[in-house]
Amino acid sequence: MENSSVEGVCDVNGCEAESERSIAVKKVIEAGLPLKNESIKKVQLCKQHYKEFKKTTKKDRELDKLGW
Ligand SMILES: [Zn+2]
Repeated sequence: MENSSVEGVCDVNGCEAESERSIAVKKVIEAGLPLKNESIKKVQLCKQHYKEFKKTTKKDRELDKLGW
């Protein structure tokens, strides 16, 4: 039962994991993740790469409820 939303595999170079989130390509490039294709608008990220992405962007935005 999977309709709509995210589907496919992670767009990070060399990664074949199932995608979990889609992120604007610009942000992913800024975060320094290597992509298979940079001419797309939305990048699919697997769970692990999304984590990495969030780590590198942590100072920009506080999406997390970590609270210092
Ligand atoms: Zn990945």
